[in-house]
Amino acid sequence: MTEPKYKRILLKLSGEALMGGDAYGINRQTIAEIVAEIKAVVDLGVQVGVVIGGGNIFRGLAHASNGMDRAQADYMGMLATVMNGLALQDAMRAAGIVSRVQSALNIEQVVEPYIRGKAIRYLEQGRTVIFAAGTGNPFFTTDTAAALRGAEIGAEIVLKATKVDGIYSADPKKFADAVRYDRISFDDAIAQNLAVMDATAFALCRDQRLPINVFSIYKPGALMRVVLGENEGTLVVC
Ligand code: UDP
Repeated sequence: MTEPKYKRILLKLSGEALMGGDAYGINRQTIAEIVAEIKAVVDLGVQVGVVIGGGNIFRGLAHASNGMDRAQADYMGMLATVMNGLALQDAMRAAGIVSRVQSALNIEQVVEPYIRGKAIRYLEQGRTVIFAAGTGNPFFTTDTAAALRGAEIGAEIVLKATKVDGIYSADPKKFADAVRYDRISFDDAIAQNLAVMDATAFALCRDQRLPINVFSIYKPGALMRVVLGENEGTLVVC
């Protein structure tokens, strides 16, 4: 039987990943495809925590730059991640994955609050845990929530699912000679000013020696290859 390299992972799924080709919101076909990729690794016995973003619905910073109070806008952004979390749970249920949504903001009629010990227990029971509402604090991002929850639950790696298949030396859309790194150190990524995750998230992973694998969620089988320890996307290590 195929042996996964990691027993427990933290997957960061951006809100934008759920849009597929749409301009806004949640594309049901896309979310079903993403869930099928997740199911394959769950079926392998890997414990999966997911931090879900909200950028497909509401991004605090964008509204703050239009004059809205930043903290207020960020709370709206966090609530958007809860909506995505519920949509993801629903798609998981349809695919036969048992999951729980935990929220960093208390809205107990809708989802249970984030309780670290309970989340770990769920993972041990083979349930997938969806972490919603980011860190629960304005001025942060769900990337930082991914680093934080990853460290808290003892994940062996943070998998950052994006639309691009890794980290490049320059923007591959603008520079034809941009090269994709298979592996890069935290220090080199910082020195080269490569946009991997936001700086807070990145610093937290580096300090906790928590590796990050950046890969494309739209590439079939990529998540599985990362989990099997194959060369997929870019691995950021100490
Ligand atoms: N957000 C926040 N604190 C957090 C996480 C998220 O205030 O700990 C807000 C912030 O406004 C952000 C929005 O929620 O723009 C959606 O999260 P994010 O932009 O990280 O989502 P993604 O880009 O991954 O879809």
